Amino acid sequence: MQHIYLDHAATTPLHPDVLEAMLPYYREFHGNPSSLHSFGQRTRHAVDEARSVIAESLHALPSEIIFTSGGTEADNTAIMGIATALKDKGRHIITSQIEHHAVIDTCAFLEKNGYDVTYIPVDKQGRVSPESVRQAIREDTILISIMYGNNEVGTVQPISEIGAIAQEKGIYFHTDAVQAYGMERMDVRSLPVDLLSISAHKINGPKGMGALYIGKNVKINPHLHGGNQEKKRRAGTENVAGIIGFAKAAEISGRTLEDHRMQYEKYRSIMLEAWSEMNVPFTVNGSLEHYLPHILNVSFPGTRTEMMLMNLDIAGIAAASGSACTAGSFEVSHVLEAMGVAQEILQSALRFSFGYGNTEEQIHEAAIKTGEIVLRVSKAER
Ligand SMILES: *Cc1c(COP(=O)(O)O)cnc(C)c1O
Repeated sequence: MQHIYLDHAATTPLHPDVLEAMLPYYREFHGNPSSLHSFGQRTRHAVDEARSVIAESLHALPSEIIFTSGGTEADNTAIMGIATALKDKGRHIITSQIEHHAVIDTCAFLEKNGYDVTYIPVDKQGRVSPESVRQAIREDTILISIMYGNNEVGTVQPISEIGAIAQEKGIYFHTDAVQAYGMERMDVRSLPVDLLSISAHKINGPKGMGALYIGKNVKINPHLHGGNQEKKRRAGTENVAGIIGFAKAAEISGRTLEDHRMQYEKYRSIMLEAWSEMNVPFTVNGSLEHYLPHILNVSFPGTRTEMMLMNLDIAGIAAASGSACTAGSFEVSHVLEAMGVAQEILQSALRFSFGYGNTEEQIHEAAIKTGEIVLRVSKAER
């Protein structure tokens, strides 16, 4: 049986060229970039080059990029870093109800520690209205954090509009761009953002590697204290091989972005058309106008998510619920809940996410098998 991996929003396989780029930094070049001898110089130089590549991918300056242990740390650093730096100015933060837990839970932690957080609701498509952000702004608002593209339903937010409001009011704006990076072109020279999080393992880079863009006029408190690395904004010896791999992955994804978008649009149509032809009832969750093409969140009324995922796994297809599915317990998605979808839709949602390595044949096969399982399972439920 051929296994078909359709869970690229959770993580992606390492690109072979990325692995090749990383290997010398495990095998030969072990110097600490902070060391002054030639061993250190060698890796210092490589880290500098990689930083330039990541910066260039966002049209940022190398000095505006700090490397982190992933998207989660980038989000935590941005939010905690601003919250603690500006605590005497105000303690109100605005975010949305559909953020990744790395943002929501960080905000919830701050709420327990004397901060106030407004969680902006979204519409049926999962979009935040810029006007509702404007209305939530108070005298003591210090940060707005709204994600670029949602990891469960793929909805892309009106980042430029929200950023423009933040800028007009003189409030820092952070965006979690982890899921959108590699799928959307980003230019921080025109995009009004102050902080932006990205992660390597969502773009065929290594796990445990990410970065935070911090605009040159933005002052944050470090989240990790210790050495002088990252200009004292993130202590700890650099993950040299990870950084090299991240830069390689960014370079590849930058080169292939348009091709991949087109490919994933095709994959979406293949799936949707197959289900229509099979008379499988379904609804697409998210926006049909503003979306990341690699994420397809769909509900099959009459089925249950857990049952579907189990049957798909048996058929060799790896999909996801879109929500955190921890051992034994199954939580409904806070994103779909915020979108106000009906119970039936909420309980039967599946996320298919495409990536490097998928082929049209695989997608076709996955669509047919999924359709067959839906027809079988929903018949049994009736
Ligand atoms: C995956 C993801 C994260 C977390 O990134 P890690 O590198 O896994 O820590 C944060 N936000 C979004 C939107 C994500 O998809």
